[in-house]
Amino acid sequence: MIMISQTVKMKIKLLIWKNMEKYGACPGCLAWINLRSVKRHVKKCPASTGTYLSSQSKGTLILQSNVICGRIPSSAFQALIKEVFPIMKNEDTENVAKQDRLIINLGYQWMLRNKGNEIMRKYYTSSVMRLAARLLLALRHLDKSQKSLDEFLKPGNFELVVKAALRCCIPKNLLATHLR
Ligand SMILES: [Zn+2]
Repeated sequence: MIMISQTVKMKIKLLIWKNMEKYGACPGCLAWINLRSVKRHVKKCPASTGTYLSSQSKGTLILQSNVICGRIPSSAFQALIKEVFPIMKNEDTENVAKQDRLIINLGYQWMLRNKGNEIMRKYYTSSVMRLAARLLLALRHLDKSQKSLDEFLKPGNFELVVKAALRCCIPKNLLATHLR
């Protein structure tokens, strides 16, 4: 009989859990799909063609899939879509904020934190999401890539993240002096 140690069992569980997050239900036909290609799937999906789903961003589709799979309580998600997204304009920062999975999750956390403050919560949440989107845009500019925020937040990118954060905090003309 093969004896598997507790550590190995834990590692296997973690591996399965990590990969589980990459998959989810299509918000249209409920088929189990890889969420990286959810946008491509929805374009061909018979249950989604011609519905509002076909015009949604990848971030929104993933979020909807997470709600269907019970990973996010639907009330908080609906509040984010109904209250925060409409007050965000379609400028670069806002578009990035509405499409990046990590920034959407950040927004969701802020909605939960300010749950009781029905008047101001959308403003607090959208400003935090816009700030995170500015950081992501600065990271993409420095890295000359189109990675998502969670791809940047790794120990190897420490210097890059610090540089990008400084770019967001300090006006351009003062940046060179501060970095000396
Ligand atoms: Zn589908």
